[in-house]
Amino acid sequence: MTGIYVPWLADAARLTGYPVVEVAGWRSRGHGGMSAVEGVVMHHTAGPRTGEYPSLAVVRDGRADLPGPLANLGLGRSGTVYVIAAGLAYHAGTSRWAGVDPDGRPFDFVNLNARFLGIEAEDDGDGTWTPEQLDCYPRLVAALCYYMRRPASRVCAHRECALPAGRKPDPAGIDMPTFRAHVGSLLVDPLNRIPRNRPAAPVKPVKDDDAMYIKCQLTPSGSPAIAILSGPIFVGLGTEQERQSAEAAIAAGAICQWVNPATWNELDRRSHALCDNPRPVAVTQLPQDATR
Ligand SMILES: [Zn+2]
Repeated sequence: MTGIYVPWLADAARLTGYPVVEVAGWRSRGHGGMSAVEGVVMHHTAGPRTGEYPSLAVVRDGRADLPGPLANLGLGRSGTVYVIAAGLAYHAGTSRWAGVDPDGRPFDFVNLNARFLGIEAEDDGDGTWTPEQLDCYPRLVAALCYYMRRPASRVCAHRECALPAGRKPDPAGIDMPTFRAHVGSLLVDPLNRIPRNRPAAPVKPVKDDDAMYIKCQLTPSGSPAIAILSGPIFVGLGTEQERQSAEAAIAAGAICQWVNPATWNELDRRSHALCDNPRPVAVTQLPQDATR
């Protein structure tokens, strides 16, 4: 076997917190190995209307006109991830994905099978996904990005990369800019954000005379927002000078807790409710996974 047989596919899949089925032989399955591991192409199977992962045999073994494997991973309707092939899979065909990574480095890949992992998610092609698939798909893609050490810009839909343009529609019903932004937000704190049902870490109790820093990634790109939480009073640090001084304090050991945007907004709302300039924020309760 020459080339790369990606050994961490099952580990990455397990990071989602969803069940993982290691399909027998996956570690050595492939049309040879991959030449590099640089990104992810998302697909739908266009398979049967019902069933958990009825396309497994086709994705693993291929069809009359195209030998398998036809993807590296599968995603069933229950959210279960199927690990099918560690080597090169025929999933993207004639294709190209080019762009610029967040660090400013341009990339341009042509014919992606040798360098992009493929995921075939079970759907008949109408884009009616189960809640489990909608929850697991971005977690799975983010987990692959985390293991590849590549950003969300390396994730594309088959319909975005297939040539000639318009050749492929999949995955139906998934808006890719939104999906990539979601993956980017998971990658901000991958080991805490990618797993589903991760037990929430309680916000550390803070005495009134004690203060802690709060950080939140409010937008997928850009610097995290920073605030000081002193008792119930929450003060956002807006200027670059305030931010730098906060970062220096955190680097020197000041307590800092990451929260998600819902928690950030709720802290902001509660703080303003105590002041004379209450601010209407439509957050009424802390979500279960509000703190990490
Ligand atoms: Zn496809």
